Amino acid sequence: MIADLMKHKDTLSFEVFPPKKDGEFEKAFEILNSLGTLGPDYISVTYGAGGSRAGKTVEIASYIQNTLGIDAMAHLTCVGSRREQLLGVCEELEKANVTHILALRGDRPKDMTDEQFLSRDFEHASDMMGFLREHTDLHLAGACYPEKHYESFSMESDLNNLKKKQDAGAEFFISQLFLDNDYYYAFLEKAAKKGITVPICAGIMPITSAKQIGTSITLSGSSVPKAMADLLATYGDNPDDMRRAGVDYAIRQIRDLKENGVKHIHLYSMNRPKTTGEIVDGIR
Ligand code: FAD
Repeated sequence: MIADLMKHKDTLSFEVFPPKKDGEFEKAFEILNSLGTLGPDYISVTYGAGGSRAGKTVEIASYIQNTLGIDAMAHLTCVGSRREQLLGVCEELEKANVTHILALRGDRPKDMTDEQFLSRDFEHASDMMGFLREHTDLHLAGACYPEKHYESFSMESDLNNLKKKQDAGAEFFISQLFLDNDYYYAFLEKAAKKGITVPICAGIMPITSAKQIGTSITLSGSSVPKAMADLLATYGDNPDDMRRAGVDYAIRQIRDLKENGVKHIHLYSMNRPKTTGEIVDGIR
């Protein structure tokens, strides 16, 4: 069980996403084989918005768990799914020996009508967690936001809601990506004052191309510190140099976290074994 492991050792985990098309599984398995050789403590697998590709998440998580022998954690979002559908996915996961879930609300898919959105079975991740705890034996984790979730009016209210996730059974949290460690340190302090006692894994995404600033970073709501803006200005037009600079930045971020006593690092691998491997080499 991952939460137990965290009591005894520092952990390094990766996040991967499942292939978009059925014909891409062989390539996905090759990527996972390479990531597996880097010795992660567990690998989490994202879930398509609105549950559109649930089967692919289950298949990839199953490969990680059963073929690679590495603990897998499947992400699961409730915004576009009914109770019965979610329980169906959980049953598939349990059949595949996958016992960990990152329970999320998810974002409203663009094609979801107001009626569908307003009649959803679970309003928040914490609501789904309570339900899953009652109906399954799965181990639950949740998401958290060092720069607060974009819908929250204040960090205070976001943290009150985070506490609800802990009370609903979250055994640990994984943070949204951040590029400035000071946000994470401040967040840890505030979370502790709110009574968050479970581990909060630091989510690190290497920024290896200028394009990511327009996609991942904007979507995550994370701010871009001057040091990263300078890298982008200097190397943004040269893909090789930008990749190397992004890897170095992530290594520096993780080294600083470790020097400051952070025990659990979650790397958004972006399905890139080479970049992930270079970061792992740089921090071990
Ligand atoms: P919630 O915990 O429900 O929070 C959403 C908002 O509601 C917050 O503002 C919160 O403060 C508020 N809130 C929470 N509980 C309550 C309550 N009880 N009462 C009142 N307000 C409340 N998305 C995907 O589609 N697929 C993925 O695989 C995926 N993986 C992710 C992994 C990580 C590590 C992270 C950080 C995010 C991931 N996301 C993923 C994105 C996530 O779905 C969105 O950030 C979404 O907007 C919020 O999900 P949540 O589980 O944090 O929601």
